[in-house]
Amino acid sequence: MDSNGVEAARIRQEIDSLKSNKRNIEQQISSLEAQLNQLEVNSSTVCPQPLSNGDLSNSNGLSPDMIYRYSRHLLLPSFGVQGQANLLKSSVLVIGAGGLGSPALLYLAACGVGRIGIVDHDVVELNNLQRQIIHTEAYIGKSKVESAAATCRSINSSTQIVEHREAFRTSNALEIVSKYDVVVDATDNAPSRYMINDCCVVLGKPLVSGAALGLEGQLTVYNYNGGPCYRCLFPTPPPTNACQRCADSGVLGVVPGVIGCLQALEAIKVASLVGEPLSGRMLLLDALSGRFRNVCSIF
Ligand SMILES: [Zn+2]
Repeated sequence: MDSNGVEAARIRQEIDSLKSNKRNIEQQISSLEAQLNQLEVNSSTVCPQPLSNGDLSNSNGLSPDMIYRYSRHLLLPSFGVQGQANLLKSSVLVIGAGGLGSPALLYLAACGVGRIGIVDHDVVELNNLQRQIIHTEAYIGKSKVESAAATCRSINSSTQIVEHREAFRTSNALEIVSKYDVVVDATDNAPSRYMINDCCVVLGKPLVSGAALGLEGQLTVYNYNGGPCYRCLFPTPPPTNACQRCADSGVLGVVPGVIGCLQALEAIKVASLVGEPLSGRMLLLDALSGRFRNVCSIF
């Protein structure tokens, strides 16, 4: 390349870099405009007192960094600054850092939930990595909670991550659940599901429930605003030998991946007070045929 060619390449690179900066600045302006609109809407409404814990401050709690980080959320008319501010004030407990918990935690950390709790007593094993995508080979033999928490923190240092490196059992369940607004059941066995459900009913917490086995998955939200709970649907626990687990019968890794993502979605909707949570309905995934079904009549 002659010197003209080198100079042309340098100029092209500089143009690209300036264009990229321009895009970033435009995004920041859009986010700030959205925030300003929201403030103006809020100050013109008749009822100045939001339902949230009586906070009178005008601030929505979003720093300039956050406005930039969550700009794609803030631009959404149905989510916006208020949805993000609600999310930031919320806390979500994820029970199980496995196939369902992995994608759920990744999205919950990325999206700006204020505080995330992770419960699990297991260690990462090689045969987990096919589906438990929050963990890496470097964490084999180490605590799943430690591993998941490290990944969440590396994604979003402004979210508080609380590690519960213990089994979820009757002696600690109520105390742990009581510290969070929304619970995500990412476990894989019936006794845990009943225990988590009962805690959520006692404490009045919405419960985002997911399950995946083989090539099928299901999703629903229990105990939301007076909606049905797990026991309403399954009053009596099945005999233990009737419950299959993926350790026994296998699971295609991406299936809990899909369901875990949908659990994050429902948890985000509940925590941000946006949209219509999947309460009183169940979403069924048949991965083999590529079909989702929404079932209502079972409730
Ligand atoms: Zn019930």
